[in-house]
Amino acid sequence: MLNPANTLVYPARMALAHAPTPLQPLSRIARHVGFDGGLWIKRDDLTGSHLSGNKIRKLEFLVAEAKSQNADVLITCGGVQSNHCRATALLAAQLGMRCHLLLRGEEPAEKDGNVLLDCLSGASISYYPSAGFQRNLDSYFKHWQAYYAEQGLRAYGIPTGGSNGTGLWGYIAGTEELHGQCVSQGLVPSHIVTATGSGGTQAGLTLGSALTGLGCKVLGMAVCDDAAWFNRKVAEDMAEWFQQFTPLAERNLEVAGVSLSDLQAITLDNYVGPAYAVADPDVFETIQLAASLEGLVLDPVYTGKAFHGLLQELRAGSLRHARDVVFVHTGGIFGVFPQRAQFAFNNNNGETKK
Ligand SMILES: *Cc1c(COP(=O)(O)O)cnc(C)c1O
Repeated sequence: MLNPANTLVYPARMALAHAPTPLQPLSRIARHVGFDGGLWIKRDDLTGSHLSGNKIRKLEFLVAEAKSQNADVLITCGGVQSNHCRATALLAAQLGMRCHLLLRGEEPAEKDGNVLLDCLSGASISYYPSAGFQRNLDSYFKHWQAYYAEQGLRAYGIPTGGSNGTGLWGYIAGTEELHGQCVSQGLVPSHIVTATGSGGTQAGLTLGSALTGLGCKVLGMAVCDDAAWFNRKVAEDMAEWFQQFTPLAERNLEVAGVSLSDLQAITLDNYVGPAYAVADPDVFETIQLAASLEGLVLDPVYTGKAFHGLLQELRAGSLRHARDVVFVHTGGIFGVFPQRAQFAFNNNNGETKK
């Protein structure tokens, strides 16, 4: 049995996510891959409709900070199909704020998926070439911050994926919520598994697992870059969290009896596939499998890759001693539509493969 979670203290927060999100069993898929240790899914794809996914949990703390600084404009960045940019743009409109998105890549001729919703939200959008985007990103932010300052507006910058010291609180809170559900459902998870892209969800869960006393391993399934990159990014984000919120952080660490230096990210990078947002056919098959066996919609950029990786590990028996494995469904449904042509039934005269 798990003890109730330690009582954590938090900085300013806005209630934006529809939470608690359900924690549900995945018994048919578990049977399908021959795993009988207990497989569960934390439905963070249900944190909202157009605001759904993991980013809204981080935005609860980021936007509270922006408001405390009297910001008028939210500036953030990402790929053209960024879920984070879509959530930020629609949230800004919901709160009567302005939003400016810095998107990596060319403006698509046809607006689909997330970028369609970005356009509907009325956000200003600047497209920048992929080459050099990361290197020039700081100067793009500075340019637009100065631009708004000249108009007497205060702009608040949110980094890629909302992953920074402030954003980490989102999944510390998410882990506290999960802990409560495990207590009431009688689960003692050994592993939490999540897709990892900018590291903030992985870092928040890693910290949250230690701070709440849940004490399970957090496995980040990389969807880009490599394990070394994520292990370093998670360490940096946790260090920034500690530096920025020292009294709160110290208090939480002390109650849990853990020290930041004990915490180490665990990342698997063998399911990245060809590139960020490019997936192999077996990922698309896993997306179909999850939809048909469990009624879940995964996406080819994040959750499909990560869940495919988890199923491969379960099939291979490398998690045979694991118990009550919890996969975090981080959302991403709008990323399915722009990649519709990749599904096998689209190359099969309309016949669905069974
Ligand atoms: C952003 C995103 C992730 C990755 O989360 P990070 O905190 O950026 O690592 C996973 N899944 C979906 C659907 C996302 O949009």
